[in-house]
Amino acid sequence: MKNKEAAVVVFSGGQDSTTCLLWAKENYKTVYAISFDYGQRHRLELECAKKICEKLGVTHKIMDMGLLNEIAPNSLTRMDIKVDESAPLQGTPNSFVDGRNMIFLTFAAVYAKQLGITDLITGVSQSDFSGYPDCRDIFIKSLNVTLNLAMDYEFDIITPLMWIDKEQTWEMADKLGGFDLIRNETLTCYNGILGDGCGNCPSCKLRKKGLEAYLEKKAAVHN
Ligand code: ZN
Repeated sequence: MKNKEAAVVVFSGGQDSTTCLLWAKENYKTVYAISFDYGQRHRLELECAKKICEKLGVTHKIMDMGLLNEIAPNSLTRMDIKVDESAPLQGTPNSFVDGRNMIFLTFAAVYAKQLGITDLITGVSQSDFSGYPDCRDIFIKSLNVTLNLAMDYEFDIITPLMWIDKEQTWEMADKLGGFDLIRNETLTCYNGILGDGCGNCPSCKLRKKGLEAYLEKKAAVHN
């Protein structure tokens, strides 16, 4: 039931944010998506985002954030930095981009306010925390307060995936009718391979583990 007016979705073209986009389409009369070009080494990511928005009939805005790569080079933007295969013993993995979610959500909020929209949707999840501090619920709540104070506006940052894992994210996508779209047309792989990806990078492993668990569960229910 579309019982809410409008929302802005922070959209990367990956599994999580595409699930959020489908969720938003189900709940809102009007949905806008905003993507950020921060020099991702896999340009296909933005192409995927664009195609998915076209397919779903969502207004899509791509914002240039090249500056982020300049001041905080990381393994997602630089070919010469190899993605950590496992979580480091200390600190954040090198696929973590300092400040990324804070900056993206802040720009999304500015954009939303210009459109008269209060609801911001992001696909962060504390269950798949992966050592990224800006995926935690406490950070989102804190930023929500800060944005409200900064712009004297009642933003509502909504995180449909915060407490669910990858298996449940697949389930949610399937219920929203987007299983095939997400399986075949999203890009989550750190090596830039569409759909099921390379199968070996940390992101593919997480996605695959969730998919297998979900398919197994679904088969058990049907049998
Ligand atoms: Zn991969």
